[in-house]
Amino acid sequence: MNVAPDPKSMPQGTLLSPEAKQAAALAAATGVLTVDLDAIIANWRKLEKTAVPAECAAVVKADGYGCGAEQVARALAGAGCKTFFVATLDEARVVRAAAPAAAIYVLGGFFQNTGDAYAKFDCKPVIGDLNELAEWDVFCRRSGWSGGAAIHIDTGMNRLGLTVTEAQGIIPRINAGDHGITLVMSHLASAEMLNNPANARQLAAFREIASLFSGVPASLANSSGIFLGAQFQFDLVRPGCALYGINPTPEADNPMQPVVELKARIVQIRNVERGDTVGYGGTWTARRPTRIAVVSAGYADGYFRAASANDGTRGAEVIVAGKRCPIAGRISMDLTAVDVTDLDKNAVRRGHWVTLIGEGITADELAHHFGTIGYEVLTSLGKRYARVYKGGNATAAPPASPPAEPAAVPT
Ligand SMILES: *Cc1c(COP(=O)(O)O)cnc(C)c1O
Repeated sequence: MNVAPDPKSMPQGTLLSPEAKQAAALAAATGVLTVDLDAIIANWRKLEKTAVPAECAAVVKADGYGCGAEQVARALAGAGCKTFFVATLDEARVVRAAAPAAAIYVLGGFFQNTGDAYAKFDCKPVIGDLNELAEWDVFCRRSGWSGGAAIHIDTGMNRLGLTVTEAQGIIPRINAGDHGITLVMSHLASAEMLNNPANARQLAAFREIASLFSGVPASLANSSGIFLGAQFQFDLVRPGCALYGINPTPEADNPMQPVVELKARIVQIRNVERGDTVGYGGTWTARRPTRIAVVSAGYADGYFRAASANDGTRGAEVIVAGKRCPIAGRISMDLTAVDVTDLDKNAVRRGHWVTLIGEGITADELAHHFGTIGYEVLTSLGKRYARVYKGGNATAAPPASPPAEPAAVPT
């Protein structure tokens, strides 16, 4: 006999199937963020090919640039990525669970009393200070831990890293062997600018000091650095933004695939008369009888207020029913008004989904309106969105039957 349980006695989240849970989450969602793990894998493979024979690692700090460190690390580990970089120990814990066999470097480095956590998650600090190195050595000697560490050398960015002179002081230790250093690295300050002379200066400085760390793999390039040429690639490259579809070559077309799609819902449609203003401060005035779609995303969702429109300035655009429509007035905390006057009346209804990122609107384009870079658009993506992951099963053997349909995404 098939008895349906009384829904009131059904503890939410225990009896519901994952599909039912997802459907419920989508029905209630004000926004849906879709992360295409197959696109991330394709981007990683493209970078790997560009950098071969160097190893291609993956930077998954800040929750995988807002895309979900756990999901991204699992997908990339499945695709063959063997080394991950995170910023913090807590991020290392997440990546370790998703990628049990990978090497994990923690860019934020070592602090006293964090040694046990390094050993527990089997991750390696990126060390950029001689005191830090001394403390790490004490921890390793006392605990017997020999999981390895990277040495970060500053070659001109003046952020983290030993000076070149300090790094030279470590060379006798390297030559003595059994030094516990598994990587020597530096970071480029201006890699996205092809002709910035700082790139050649940093390359020359790093090449010289890294060559003294004989037998230790070397790494210099972030995403943009990979595209500066083979001499920047050394033994390992560390792409972040390019994995997530941000253009690593902003002076040229984007070689990467888009990864993120963001949709929000139309909460209300209203008609305003010519001369009426829309939104806080009344900064936007209707120049004709206007139809406004009020959309359920605002600056609290990472849709920055800086992209607002007013009478003097156009703001960001949103795709409604396949067409680009301009924002009207100030973006508020939870809501954004969009001018849909030019669309067919029946094409726009309450409850429809509109596209904030996707269908040709890139994170880089939004960043331009936000007055920032695509990185910050991704790492600011709101916590209120329902998240949907597509693909990500790179190594799975070809399925005998067609793979399960990805969860239905509202269109
Ligand atoms: C964040 C970071 C990267 C990745 O940089 P992208 O520009 O996102 O590719 C690489 N190396 C270091 C040291 C970083 O901090």
